[in-house]
Amino acid sequence: MTYQILQKNITYADDFYLKGCVKVRLKGKVSLITGAARGIGRASALLFSKEGSNVVIADIDEEGGQKTKSEIIGNGGKAIFIKTDVSKKEDVLNLVDRSIREFGKLHILYNNAGVFWKNRDGHITDIDEAIWDKIIDINLKSTYLCCKYAIPEIIKSGGGSVINTASSAAVLGIPGCDAYTASKGAIVAITRSMAAEYGSFNIRVNCIVPTHIETPMFEESTKSVPGFDEDKFLKTFPLGKYGKPEDIANAALFLASDESLFVTGSMCTVDGGATSTYMH
Ligand code: NAD
Repeated sequence: MTYQILQKNITYADDFYLKGCVKVRLKGKVSLITGAARGIGRASALLFSKEGSNVVIADIDEEGGQKTKSEIIGNGGKAIFIKTDVSKKEDVLNLVDRSIREFGKLHILYNNAGVFWKNRDGHITDIDEAIWDKIIDINLKSTYLCCKYAIPEIIKSGGGSVINTASSAAVLGIPGCDAYTASKGAIVAITRSMAAEYGSFNIRVNCIVPTHIETPMFEESTKSVPGFDEDKFLKTFPLGKYGKPEDIANAALFLASDESLFVTGSMCTVDGGATSTYMH
């Protein structure tokens, strides 16, 4: 492996960065990440860009989305922001159409956007019907819409990776959050059937199962709740500390990259061991 440095011109050999010979895992790829204005989606957008991917940032939050885009461009990457409500068909059609017009191809779809409305969700007998519909639309229908319109473009681009987002709620019940639990359980199920359907098109479909990740969602739904006992909470799972958005971004990078070429239909659990044991 050789590198040539002629004044400011740098020729890269193989797919390694010059500095430290770090492998660029997503060189030449185009990634569409929903919910990338903050939290896990933002961390993933920054990491995917660092790893060589052009990034489409989709979010309902314009200010946060533009901020993520500016950070990527400031770091020398390529990104566009498209304001999108992922639960709306017209918005998703526009999202995929503009992504293709901008970058010509699409290889990675990361369905990350979601809501956890602890105060508005509820027990199945109490939950308001409109709230049920809204949570299911944002967390589950969004995955249907994004896959419906993005997968044909991934097929045209030669294949790639779809990453869906579940939650520990898919495997452990969260009392009082029945709509959220239903939406995330369905994500695990649909990940498996999609893996079976699109494997022959060279598309892998996996889901990430995050829990206890320090993001604005976690702050709003858990840490800032009056009476929250942090010491007690941290003793309920093996690693006893919160995860960072970057912990999920690293798992998503693995699932997006060629390092996971034989992985499809899987649940990638990143939760500090929370779903592995009962420690309450
Ligand atoms: P977050 O609230 O910090 O970020 C979510 C992003 O999704 C925000 O930028 C928000 O604007 C966007 N979004 C919400 N509704 C949208 C819509 N209709 N259209 C487009 N964008 C929309 O949350 P996070 O913690 O980063 O969570 C990301 C994903 O991970 C979610 O699907 C969440 O359910 C899942 N998750 C997170 C945790 C955790 O511990 N943080 C645990 C389990 C699952």
